[in-house]
Amino acid sequence: MTHQTSKVGFVSLGCPKALVDSERILTKLRSEGYEIAADYNGADVVVVNTCGFIDSAKEESLSAIKEAMTENGRVIVTGCLGVEEDAIREVAPDVLAISGPHQYETVVNQVHEAAPRPHDPYMDLVPPQGVRLTPRHFSYVKISEGCNHSCKFCIIPSFRGKHKSRPVRAVLREAEKLVEAGCQELLIISQDTSAYGIDLKHAEETWTYKEGGTRTVRAHMTALAAALGELGVWVRLHYVYPYPHVDEVIPLMAEGKILPYLDIPFQHASPKVLKSMRRPANEQKVLSRIHKWREQVPELVIRSTFIVGFPGETEEDFQYLLDWLKEARLDHVGCFKYEPVEGATANELPDQVPEDIKEERWNRFMAVAQEISREKLQDRIGLEMAVIIDEVTEDGAIGRTYADAPEIDGNVIIPDGSFLSVGDMVFCLITEAQEYDLIGQLVMDSETSEEDEWDW
Ligand code: SF4
Repeated sequence: MTHQTSKVGFVSLGCPKALVDSERILTKLRSEGYEIAADYNGADVVVVNTCGFIDSAKEESLSAIKEAMTENGRVIVTGCLGVEEDAIREVAPDVLAISGPHQYETVVNQVHEAAPRPHDPYMDLVPPQGVRLTPRHFSYVKISEGCNHSCKFCIIPSFRGKHKSRPVRAVLREAEKLVEAGCQELLIISQDTSAYGIDLKHAEETWTYKEGGTRTVRAHMTALAAALGELGVWVRLHYVYPYPHVDEVIPLMAEGKILPYLDIPFQHASPKVLKSMRRPANEQKVLSRIHKWREQVPELVIRSTFIVGFPGETEEDFQYLLDWLKEARLDHVGCFKYEPVEGATANELPDQVPEDIKEERWNRFMAVAQEISREKLQDRIGLEMAVIIDEVTEDGAIGRTYADAPEIDGNVIIPDGSFLSVGDMVFCLITEAQEYDLIGQLVMDSETSEEDEWDW
Protein backbone atom coordinates (compact mmCIF):
# COMPACT_ATOMS: atom_id res chain seq x y z
CA MET A 1 0.00 0.00 0.00
CA THR A 2 1.44 3.37 -0.90
CA HIS A 3 0.82 6.55 1.03
CA GLN A 4 1.08 9.92 -0.59
CA THR A 5 3.43 12.20 1.30
CA SER A 6 2.31 15.71 2.11
CA LYS A 7 4.68 18.46 1.03
CA VAL A 8 5.24 21.75 2.82
CA GLY A 9 6.75 24.84 1.21
CA PHE A 10 8.71 27.12 3.53
CA VAL A 11 9.73 30.76 3.25
CA SER A 12 11.95 31.93 6.12
CA LEU A 13 12.61 35.63 6.60
CA GLY A 14 14.15 37.69 9.38
CA CYS A 15 16.81 37.39 12.04
CA PRO A 16 18.68 34.34 13.42
CA LYS A 17 16.00 33.83 16.09
CA ALA A 18 13.39 33.53 13.34
CA LEU A 19 15.70 31.17 11.51
CA VAL A 20 15.91 28.95 14.59
CA ASP A 21 12.10 28.98 14.77
CA SER A 22 11.98 27.89 11.11
CA GLU A 23 14.47 25.11 11.78
CA ARG A 24 12.45 23.82 14.72
CA ILE A 25 9.24 23.78 12.72
CA LEU A 26 10.91 22.08 9.76
CA THR A 27 12.66 19.54 11.99
CA LYS A 28 9.37 18.60 13.60
CA LEU A 29 7.57 18.36 10.25
CA ARG A 30 10.37 16.28 8.70
CA SER A 31 10.38 13.96 11.70
CA GLU A 32 6.67 13.42 11.12
CA GLY A 33 7.33 12.44 7.50
CA TYR A 34 6.40 15.63 5.65
CA GLU A 35 8.54 16.46 2.63
CA ILE A 36 9.84 19.95 2.04
CA ALA A 37 8.71 21.19 -1.38
CA ALA A 38 11.31 22.82 -3.60
CA ASP A 39 8.84 25.26 -5.13
CA TYR A 40 5.36 26.67 -4.59
CA ASN A 41 3.72 24.39 -7.14
CA GLY A 42 4.70 21.16 -5.46
CA ALA A 43 3.54 22.23 -1.97
CA ASP A 44 0.28 21.22 -0.31
CA VAL A 45 0.65 24.20 2.00
CA VAL A 46 3.21 27.01 2.37
CA VAL A 47 4.46 28.37 5.69
CA VAL A 48 5.80 31.94 5.65
CA ASN A 49 7.88 32.80 8.72
CA THR A 50 7.87 36.60 8.77
CA CYS A 51 9.86 39.45 10.25
CA GLY A 52 8.26 42.63 11.58
CA PHE A 53 11.24 44.39 13.07
CA ILE A 54 11.42 47.48 10.84
CA ASP A 55 9.21 48.83 8.08
CA SER A 56 11.32 47.45 5.24
CA ALA A 57 11.24 43.98 6.87
CA LYS A 58 7.46 44.22 7.18
CA GLU A 59 7.18 45.14 3.49
CA GLU A 60 9.36 42.20 2.53
CA SER A 61 7.23 39.86 4.66
CA LEU A 62 3.95 41.16 3.25
CA SER A 63 5.17 40.77 -0.31
CA ALA A 64 6.38 37.22 0.46
CA ILE A 65 2.89 36.39 1.79
CA LYS A 66 1.25 37.90 -1.33
CA GLU A 67 3.59 35.93 -3.59
CA ALA A 68 2.87 32.67 -1.75
CA MET A 69 -0.88 33.32 -2.01
CA THR A 70 -0.62 34.02 -5.76
CA GLU A 71 1.64 31.07 -6.50
CA ASN A 72 0.06 28.50 -4.18
CA GLY A 73 -2.99 29.89 -2.33
CA ARG A 74 -2.75 27.72 0.82
CA VAL A 75 -0.62 29.77 3.18
CA ILE A 76 0.09 29.73 6.92
CA VAL A 77 1.77 32.83 8.33
CA THR A 78 3.89 32.84 11.47
CA GLY A 79 6.69 34.89 13.04
CA CYS A 80 7.03 38.45 14.28
CA LEU A 81 4.65 40.03 11.78
CA GLY A 82 2.02 37.50 12.89
CA VAL A 83 1.11 39.78 15.78
CA GLU A 84 -0.24 42.26 13.20
CA GLU A 85 -3.07 40.14 11.86
CA ASP A 86 -4.97 43.11 10.42
CA ALA A 87 -2.02 44.18 8.25
CA ILE A 88 -1.69 40.64 6.92
CA ARG A 89 -5.41 40.17 6.27
CA GLU A 90 -5.45 43.50 4.42
CA VAL A 91 -3.07 42.19 1.74
CA ALA A 92 -4.02 38.50 1.97
CA PRO A 93 -7.46 38.00 3.53
CA ASP A 94 -7.55 34.27 2.81
CA VAL A 95 -4.41 33.02 4.51
CA LEU A 96 -5.28 29.82 6.38
CA ALA A 97 -3.89 30.77 9.78
CA ILE A 98 -1.73 33.36 11.52
CA SER A 99 0.43 33.02 14.62
CA GLY A 100 3.14 35.05 16.33
CA PRO A 101 6.82 34.27 16.97
CA HIS A 102 8.03 31.08 18.73
CA GLN A 103 4.70 29.32 18.29
CA TYR A 104 6.14 26.10 16.89
CA GLU A 105 3.48 23.85 18.31
CA THR A 106 0.71 26.03 16.87
CA VAL A 107 2.28 26.12 13.39
CA VAL A 108 2.83 22.36 13.34
CA ASN A 109 -0.79 21.82 14.36
CA GLN A 110 -1.95 24.22 11.65
CA VAL A 111 0.07 22.26 9.09
CA HIS A 112 -1.57 19.03 10.32
CA GLU A 113 -4.94 20.62 9.61
CA ALA A 114 -3.96 21.93 6.19
CA ALA A 115 -2.14 18.84 4.87
CA PRO A 116 -2.70 15.38 6.36
CA ARG A 117 0.12 13.99 8.44
CA PRO A 118 1.88 11.24 6.48
CA HIS A 119 1.42 7.65 7.61
CA ASP A 120 4.33 6.50 9.73
CA PRO A 121 4.57 2.76 10.44
CA TYR A 122 6.31 3.42 13.76
CA MET A 123 4.63 6.59 15.00
CA ASP A 124 1.19 5.32 14.02
CA LEU A 125 1.54 2.55 16.57
CA VAL A 126 1.28 5.31 19.16
CA PRO A 127 -2.38 6.07 19.98
CA PRO A 128 -3.59 9.54 18.90
CA GLN A 129 -3.78 10.74 22.51
CA GLY A 130 -0.09 9.78 23.01
CA VAL A 131 1.37 7.32 25.49
CA ARG A 132 -0.27 7.87 28.89
CA LEU A 133 0.79 6.66 32.30
CA THR A 134 -2.67 7.23 33.80
CA PRO A 135 -5.66 4.92 33.23
CA ARG A 136 -7.73 5.69 30.15
CA HIS A 137 -10.60 7.34 32.02
CA PHE A 138 -8.65 10.26 33.48
CA SER A 139 -5.70 12.25 32.23
CA TYR A 140 -3.52 15.12 33.32
CA VAL A 141 -3.28 17.96 30.82
CA LYS A 142 -0.37 20.30 31.36
CA ILE A 143 -1.21 23.79 30.13
CA SER A 144 2.02 25.58 30.97
CA GLU A 145 5.51 24.99 32.25
CA GLY A 146 7.75 27.00 34.57
CA CYS A 147 6.90 29.77 37.01
CA ASN A 148 7.48 33.52 37.31
CA HIS A 149 7.39 33.55 41.12
CA SER A 150 10.16 33.12 43.62
CA CYS A 151 8.65 31.49 46.69
CA LYS A 152 11.49 31.15 49.11
CA PHE A 153 10.99 27.46 49.86
CA CYS A 154 10.85 26.42 46.20
CA ILE A 155 13.52 25.77 43.60
CA ILE A 156 11.23 24.90 40.69
CA PRO A 157 11.77 28.17 38.77
CA SER A 158 15.54 27.58 38.88
CA PHE A 159 15.26 24.44 36.78
CA ARG A 160 11.93 24.81 34.99
CA GLY A 161 12.49 28.43 34.00
CA LYS A 162 9.95 31.18 33.47
CA HIS A 163 6.25 30.56 32.94
CA LYS A 164 5.57 29.36 29.40
CA SER A 165 2.03 28.59 28.29
CA ARG A 166 1.06 26.08 25.63
CA PRO A 167 -1.06 27.56 22.84
CA VAL A 168 -4.82 27.29 23.38
CA ARG A 169 -5.31 25.13 20.32
CA ALA A 170 -2.60 22.69 21.37
CA VAL A 171 -4.27 22.24 24.76
CA LEU A 172 -7.75 21.87 23.26
CA ARG A 173 -6.53 19.48 20.60
CA GLU A 174 -4.89 17.28 23.22
CA ALA A 175 -8.00 17.38 25.41
CA GLU A 176 -10.26 16.50 22.50
CA LYS A 177 -8.09 13.54 21.49
CA LEU A 178 -8.14 12.27 25.07
CA VAL A 179 -11.91 12.50 25.20
CA GLU A 180 -12.19 10.69 21.86
CA ALA A 181 -10.01 7.94 23.30
CA GLY A 182 -12.38 7.45 26.25
CA CYS A 183 -11.09 9.90 28.84
CA GLN A 184 -13.86 11.08 31.18
CA GLU A 185 -11.93 13.43 33.42
CA LEU A 186 -9.34 16.06 32.50
CA LEU A 187 -7.08 17.23 35.32
CA ILE A 188 -5.63 20.60 34.38
CA ILE A 189 -2.16 21.10 35.80
CA SER A 190 0.78 23.50 35.61
CA GLN A 191 2.98 25.29 38.13
CA ASP A 192 0.59 28.23 38.22
CA THR A 193 -2.70 27.55 36.42
CA SER A 194 -4.11 31.02 37.12
CA ALA A 195 -1.21 32.57 35.19
CA TYR A 196 -2.08 30.66 32.03
CA GLY A 197 -1.59 32.78 28.91
CA ILE A 198 0.19 35.65 30.60
CA ASP A 199 3.25 35.10 28.38
CA LEU A 200 1.02 34.86 25.30
CA LYS A 201 -0.49 38.23 26.20
CA HIS A 202 -3.78 36.34 26.44
CA ALA A 203 -3.98 36.25 22.62
CA GLU A 204 -7.10 34.81 21.04
CA GLU A 205 -7.20 31.74 18.82
CA THR A 206 -10.04 30.24 16.86
CA TRP A 207 -10.95 26.69 17.74
CA THR A 208 -13.28 24.34 15.89
CA TYR A 209 -14.63 21.43 17.90
CA LYS A 210 -14.63 18.04 16.17
CA GLU A 211 -18.27 17.69 17.15
CA GLY A 212 -18.95 20.97 15.34
CA GLY A 213 -19.01 24.60 16.40
CA THR A 214 -16.28 27.18 16.38
CA ARG A 215 -15.34 29.58 19.15
CA THR A 216 -12.70 32.16 19.80
CA VAL A 217 -10.71 31.27 22.88
CA ARG A 218 -8.41 33.65 24.76
CA ALA A 219 -5.22 32.25 26.22
CA HIS A 220 -6.59 32.81 29.71
CA MET A 221 -7.53 30.39 32.46
CA THR A 222 -11.22 31.30 32.45
CA ALA A 223 -11.63 31.11 28.67
CA LEU A 224 -9.69 27.86 28.47
CA ALA A 225 -11.76 26.34 31.28
CA ALA A 226 -14.96 27.40 29.48
CA ALA A 227 -13.76 25.84 26.21
CA LEU A 228 -12.71 22.61 27.93
CA GLY A 229 -16.08 22.57 29.64
CA GLU A 230 -17.72 22.10 26.23
CA LEU A 231 -16.11 18.67 25.81
CA GLY A 232 -18.72 17.02 28.02
CA VAL A 233 -16.34 15.43 30.54
CA TRP A 234 -15.24 16.32 34.06
CA VAL A 235 -12.75 19.19 34.08
CA ARG A 236 -10.84 19.70 37.32
CA LEU A 237 -8.53 22.65 37.99
CA HIS A 238 -5.33 22.14 39.97
CA TYR A 239 -2.66 24.59 41.24
CA VAL A 240 -4.87 27.65 41.03
CA TYR A 241 -3.48 30.72 42.81
CA PRO A 242 -6.22 32.95 44.15
CA TYR A 243 -5.64 35.91 41.83
CA PRO A 244 -8.75 38.10 41.47
CA HIS A 245 -9.73 36.54 38.14
CA VAL A 246 -10.22 33.16 39.82
CA ASP A 247 -13.63 34.57 40.79
CA GLU A 248 -14.52 34.25 37.09
CA VAL A 249 -14.35 30.45 37.04
CA ILE A 250 -16.93 30.12 39.80
CA PRO A 251 -19.88 30.85 37.44
CA LEU A 252 -18.59 28.07 35.15
CA MET A 253 -18.90 25.73 38.11
CA ALA A 254 -22.38 27.05 38.89
CA GLU A 255 -23.38 26.25 35.29
CA GLY A 256 -21.96 22.73 35.57
CA LYS A 257 -19.33 23.37 32.85
CA ILE A 258 -16.39 22.43 35.05
CA LEU A 259 -16.24 20.59 38.35
CA PRO A 260 -16.90 22.68 41.47
CA TYR A 261 -13.44 21.84 42.74
CA LEU A 262 -10.44 24.09 43.25
CA ASP A 263 -6.97 23.00 44.23
CA ILE A 264 -5.34 26.13 45.68
CA PRO A 265 -1.93 25.75 47.31
CA PHE A 266 -2.34 28.35 50.08
CA GLN A 267 0.73 27.16 52.05
CA HIS A 268 -0.09 29.45 55.00
CA ALA A 269 -2.59 32.05 56.15
CA SER A 270 -0.60 34.41 58.35
CA PRO A 271 0.13 37.55 56.28
CA LYS A 272 3.55 37.80 57.91
CA VAL A 273 4.55 34.24 57.00
CA LEU A 274 3.09 34.51 53.48
CA LYS A 275 5.09 37.67 52.93
CA SER A 276 8.22 36.03 54.22
CA MET A 277 7.54 33.04 51.92
CA ARG A 278 7.05 35.51 49.02
CA ARG A 279 3.84 33.80 48.00
CA PRO A 280 1.94 35.09 44.94
CA ALA A 281 -1.64 36.37 45.33
CA ASN A 282 -0.92 36.97 48.97
CA GLU A 283 -3.95 39.05 49.76
CA GLN A 284 -5.83 39.15 53.00
CA LYS A 285 -9.36 38.89 51.62
CA VAL A 286 -9.11 35.24 50.68
CA LEU A 287 -11.45 34.13 53.45
CA SER A 288 -14.24 36.45 52.39
CA ARG A 289 -13.72 35.38 48.78
CA ILE A 290 -14.04 31.72 49.77
CA HIS A 291 -17.33 32.57 51.50
CA LYS A 292 -18.55 34.36 48.37
CA TRP A 293 -17.55 31.45 46.13
CA ARG A 294 -19.54 29.12 48.37
CA GLU A 295 -22.57 31.40 48.24
CA GLN A 296 -22.46 31.04 44.44
CA VAL A 297 -21.61 27.34 44.43
CA PRO A 298 -22.49 25.73 47.78
CA GLU A 299 -21.08 22.35 46.70
CA LEU A 300 -17.64 23.85 45.95
CA VAL A 301 -14.80 21.66 47.22
CA ILE A 302 -11.44 23.23 48.00
CA ARG A 303 -8.20 21.30 48.40
CA SER A 304 -4.98 22.88 49.57
CA THR A 305 -1.52 22.24 50.94
CA PHE A 306 0.21 24.03 53.80
CA ILE A 307 3.67 24.29 55.31
CA VAL A 308 4.13 24.51 59.06
CA GLY A 309 7.37 25.47 60.77
CA PHE A 310 8.54 27.88 58.04
CA PRO A 311 11.49 29.94 59.35
CA GLY A 312 10.20 32.76 61.55
CA GLU A 313 6.76 31.17 62.12
CA THR A 314 5.77 32.01 65.71
CA GLU A 315 3.12 30.35 67.85
CA GLU A 316 0.95 33.38 67.11
CA ASP A 317 1.36 32.89 63.34
CA PHE A 318 0.57 29.23 63.69
CA GLN A 319 -2.52 29.94 65.77
CA TYR A 320 -3.62 32.41 63.07
CA LEU A 321 -3.32 29.59 60.54
CA LEU A 322 -5.37 27.21 62.70
CA ASP A 323 -8.12 29.81 63.21
CA TRP A 324 -8.11 30.55 59.49
CA LEU A 325 -8.45 26.86 58.65
CA LYS A 326 -11.35 26.46 61.07
CA GLU A 327 -13.13 29.32 59.36
CA ALA A 328 -12.22 28.35 55.78
CA ARG A 329 -13.30 24.74 56.41
CA LEU A 330 -11.33 23.36 53.48
CA ASP A 331 -12.38 19.94 52.28
CA HIS A 332 -9.00 18.36 51.59
CA VAL A 333 -5.79 19.49 53.22
CA GLY A 334 -2.21 18.29 52.94
CA CYS A 335 0.41 19.58 55.34
CA PHE A 336 4.20 19.45 55.27
CA LYS A 337 6.71 20.27 57.93
CA TYR A 338 9.10 22.84 56.46
CA GLU A 339 12.27 21.20 55.15
CA PRO A 340 15.23 23.12 53.81
CA VAL A 341 15.47 22.10 50.15
CA GLU A 342 18.99 22.46 48.78
CA GLY A 343 19.23 25.74 46.87
CA ALA A 344 16.09 27.33 48.37
CA THR A 345 16.56 30.89 49.64
CA ALA A 346 14.49 30.15 52.76
CA ASN A 347 17.47 28.21 54.08
CA GLU A 348 19.24 31.47 54.86
CA LEU A 349 16.33 32.95 56.81
CA PRO A 350 16.82 33.49 60.54
CA ASP A 351 14.70 31.87 63.26
CA GLN A 352 14.55 28.33 61.88
CA VAL A 353 11.89 26.41 63.80
CA PRO A 354 13.13 23.44 65.87
CA GLU A 355 12.05 19.98 64.66
CA ASP A 356 10.03 19.12 67.79
CA ILE A 357 7.96 22.31 67.40
CA LYS A 358 7.35 21.58 63.71
CA GLU A 359 6.19 18.10 64.66
CA GLU A 360 3.88 19.43 67.37
CA ARG A 361 2.34 22.04 65.03
CA TRP A 362 1.91 19.47 62.28
CA ASN A 363 -0.05 17.21 64.66
CA ARG A 364 -2.26 20.07 65.84
CA PHE A 365 -2.88 21.21 62.27
CA MET A 366 -3.77 17.72 61.03
CA ALA A 367 -6.14 17.17 63.97
CA VAL A 368 -8.14 20.26 62.96
CA ALA A 369 -8.03 19.33 59.25
CA GLN A 370 -9.21 15.79 59.97
CA GLU A 371 -12.08 17.01 62.10
CA ILE A 372 -13.26 19.33 59.32
CA SER A 373 -12.93 16.56 56.72
CA ARG A 374 -14.86 14.13 58.97
CA GLU A 375 -17.71 16.60 59.46
CA LYS A 376 -17.88 17.42 55.77
CA LEU A 377 -17.99 13.78 54.78
CA GLN A 378 -20.78 13.16 57.32
CA ASP A 379 -22.80 15.81 55.47
CA ARG A 380 -22.69 13.64 52.34
CA ILE A 381 -24.53 10.74 53.94
CA GLY A 382 -27.90 10.37 52.26
CA LEU A 383 -26.87 12.13 49.04
CA GLU A 384 -26.99 10.49 45.63
CA MET A 385 -23.80 11.34 43.83
CA ALA A 386 -22.22 10.63 40.45
CA VAL A 387 -19.17 8.38 40.92
CA ILE A 388 -16.44 7.55 38.42
CA ILE A 389 -15.04 4.04 38.88
CA ASP A 390 -11.24 3.76 39.30
CA GLU A 391 -10.81 0.17 40.39
CA VAL A 392 -12.84 -3.04 40.44
CA THR A 393 -12.10 -6.17 42.45
CA GLU A 394 -14.16 -9.19 43.47
CA ASP A 395 -14.91 -7.34 46.74
CA GLY A 396 -16.52 -4.39 44.99
CA ALA A 397 -15.55 -1.17 43.23
CA ILE A 398 -13.69 1.95 44.24
CA GLY A 399 -14.56 5.27 42.71
CA ARG A 400 -14.63 9.00 43.29
CA THR A 401 -17.18 11.79 43.24
CA TYR A 402 -16.49 15.28 41.83
CA ALA A 403 -15.18 16.12 45.29
CA ASP A 404 -12.14 13.87 45.02
CA ALA A 405 -9.21 14.09 42.64
CA PRO A 406 -7.50 10.81 41.80
CA GLU A 407 -4.56 9.71 43.91
CA ILE A 408 -4.68 12.60 46.38
CA ASP A 409 -8.22 12.79 47.79
CA GLY A 410 -10.70 10.25 49.15
CA ASN A 411 -12.69 7.42 47.56
CA VAL A 412 -16.17 6.00 47.45
CA ILE A 413 -16.11 2.30 48.30
CA ILE A 414 -18.96 0.43 46.60
CA PRO A 415 -19.30 -3.08 48.04
CA ASP A 416 -21.99 -4.06 45.50
CA GLY A 417 -19.95 -2.81 42.52
CA SER A 418 -17.84 -5.84 41.58
CA PHE A 419 -19.63 -6.15 38.21
CA LEU A 420 -18.71 -2.59 37.20
CA SER A 421 -15.85 -1.63 34.88
CA VAL A 422 -13.10 0.93 35.35
CA GLY A 423 -14.22 4.22 33.83
CA ASP A 424 -17.95 3.60 34.40
CA MET A 425 -19.92 6.59 35.64
CA VAL A 426 -22.59 5.49 38.10
CA PHE A 427 -24.82 6.95 40.79
CA CYS A 428 -24.39 5.99 44.41
CA LEU A 429 -26.36 6.64 47.54
CA ILE A 430 -23.82 7.57 50.21
CA THR A 431 -24.60 5.40 53.21
CA GLU A 432 -21.60 5.88 55.49
CA ALA A 433 -18.59 8.16 56.00
CA GLN A 434 -15.19 7.13 57.28
CA GLU A 435 -12.32 9.48 58.10
CA TYR A 436 -11.43 10.14 54.44
CA ASP A 437 -13.59 7.76 52.40
CA LEU A 438 -17.28 7.23 51.80
CA ILE A 439 -19.29 4.03 51.45
CA GLY A 440 -21.80 4.03 48.63
CA GLN A 441 -24.60 1.85 47.42
CA LEU A 442 -25.35 1.70 43.72
CA VAL A 443 -28.49 3.44 42.56
CA MET A 444 -29.81 1.71 39.48
CA ASP A 445 -30.78 3.82 36.46
CA SER A 446 -34.50 3.30 37.01
CA GLU A 447 -34.16 4.86 40.45
CA THR A 448 -32.44 7.93 39.06
CA SER A 449 -34.65 10.43 37.31
CA GLU A 450 -33.48 12.29 34.21
CA GLU A 451 -33.37 15.45 36.26
CA ASP A 452 -30.97 13.94 38.76
CA GLU A 453 -28.47 13.05 36.08
CA TRP A 454 -25.19 14.93 36.35
CA ASP A 455 -26.39 16.73 39.40
CA TRP A 456 -23.40 16.84 41.72
S1 SF4 B 1 5.88 27.30 44.91
FE1 SF4 B 1 6.06 29.44 44.19
S2 SF4 B 1 7.97 29.51 43.01
FE2 SF4 B 1 7.45 27.35 43.32
S3 SF4 B 1 6.35 26.80 41.46
FE3 SF4 B 1 4.80 27.40 42.99
S4 SF4 B 1 4.43 29.62 42.67
FE4 SF4 B 1 6.33 29.05 41.59
